[in-house]
Amino acid sequence: MNKAIRQAVIAGNWKMNKTRPEARALISELIPLVKDANCGVVICVPFTNLETALDATKGTNIKVGAENCHWAKSGAFTGEISAEMLAEMGVEYVVIGHSERRQYFGETDATVNQRVRAALDSGLKVILCVGELLEQREAGITEEIVGMQTKAALGGVFAGELKNIILAYEPVWAIGTGKTATAEQANEVNHYIRTVVAKLYGAPAADAMTIQYGGSMNAKNADELLAQPDVDGGLIGGASLKAADFAVIVGAASR
Ligand code: PEP
Repeated sequence: MNKAIRQAVIAGNWKMNKTRPEARALISELIPLVKDANCGVVICVPFTNLETALDATKGTNIKVGAENCHWAKSGAFTGEISAEMLAEMGVEYVVIGHSERRQYFGETDATVNQRVRAALDSGLKVILCVGELLEQREAGITEEIVGMQTKAALGGVFAGELKNIILAYEPVWAIGTGKTATAEQANEVNHYIRTVVAKLYGAPAADAMTIQYGGSMNAKNADELLAQPDVDGGLIGGASLKAADFAVIVGAASR
């Protein structure tokens, strides 16, 4: 397994935060801080901030993503946004299967898979989240859970499409809680996910796959987490809302 052949990507997940003026201010602050990054830099923002973010990041190395998309191209799905709508705007990435969507909005492995399919068909790059609940970790079934989620989400995805997918291992107990997985725990599960991808698509494909860790990654713990051989970047919630902290994480991934 060769970390050097994979691109590290640091992606911010702003969740339901920032008005448009606040978004513009945060991006303006971030641009000079990450301009020399030696890793991918993505900000995933609320739908209402997408146009602002696309405009504010023009000509920079910061890519823009959405936080979800629907699987249908269009239709009677009040409150939803299609992958095609995002792609038409110039959005490049979309987060799919975040645990908050699974926990609070009835997202299932089946609908995650449908959203992945729609996003790929529309030309979006997917940041696909998997992760276990605390009780699942305590019951010793972390690998079964993330393995099952990964296989279900990738159902019907062709090997050639994997270049447009980033996997993000996000233990649910570590998201927004300040409880980070240890570097060893993060690496262990990321490595396991890579073996699942290898079984599905072969070792070269798994070797090339960017697998992030997410869950209370911050300016203090990023170095240790990102130094792990199977951790290829991070999905960052809370710390992505502070330009200086996010930039420190980008710096850690750039080394
Ligand atoms: C997330 O929302 O994906 C996340 C990892 O959040 P936090 O960094 O705040 O734990």
